[in-house]
Amino acid sequence: MWDQKWVIGNWKMNGQLQYNNALVHKLRTLEVQDKVCIGITPPTVYLSQVHNAVQIVINNPIHTCAQDVSRFGGSGAYTGEVSAEMLKDVGVDIVLIGHSERSLYFNEKNDVQRHKIENVLKVGLTPLLCVGESLKEREDGREKEAVAYQLSVFKGLKTKHFAVAYEPVWAIGTGKVATTEQIVDMHAFIYHEILSLVGEGAKIRVLYGGSVNAANAAEIFSVPHVDGALVGGASLTYDSFTAIIKAAQQA
Ligand code: PEP
Repeated sequence: MWDQKWVIGNWKMNGQLQYNNALVHKLRTLEVQDKVCIGITPPTVYLSQVHNAVQIVINNPIHTCAQDVSRFGGSGAYTGEVSAEMLKDVGVDIVLIGHSERSLYFNEKNDVQRHKIENVLKVGLTPLLCVGESLKEREDGREKEAVAYQLSVFKGLKTKHFAVAYEPVWAIGTGKVATTEQIVDMHAFIYHEILSLVGEGAKIRVLYGGSVNAANAAEIFSVPHVDGALVGGASLTYDSFTAIIKAAQQA
């Protein structure tokens, strides 16, 4: 996993029982992609369905991922919440933390993200922290400052494994992709920041996210320090998602 390219599909608030089943079952026909760590991130209500369905994907193991987790651990009187323990119980491996849509619509900040990361690590799952600057921050030349602040949630964690998705907010769902120069510059910066926060010996994956599709994936995967992709819209159909997986395999 930590030496593979990751291709993680984030379904966001999309999917239905029948559609999910058809998509996951079709993935059975995909030939072996041994250089790729594949993940599917359905809405929480479909986690068990997806996890059960991926068990029968023979060629390529597929990780079940969650879009979010509660900042509260265990169980208790937190109506509407789903804990890290519950995600583990239904077969989740990787948990997205701090997707920009969580900050945008739910006002989620660093302190909440830190609690979530700690809860996820405590039960042995892998957090995938999403970071990225807004358009305004990029225009003002403050993109690294913004990303460094978001990465500071890692400080002092007792883990050597760090997974980050760099998703410039202006590139998510817009069809605008960061340039090769912008990606390499920010990914190198993220590597540098993590190493300076946690010290040498860390295992790091830095994924790019933001309008990745079948047509641009190969170019994105050829950029230095790009260890994979977090894919939104293009993960919802078999052809585009598998084209991205194949591009990662060939990178
Ligand atoms: C995302 O949701 O993380 C994302 C990158 O979306 P899209 O690929 O649709 O831009």
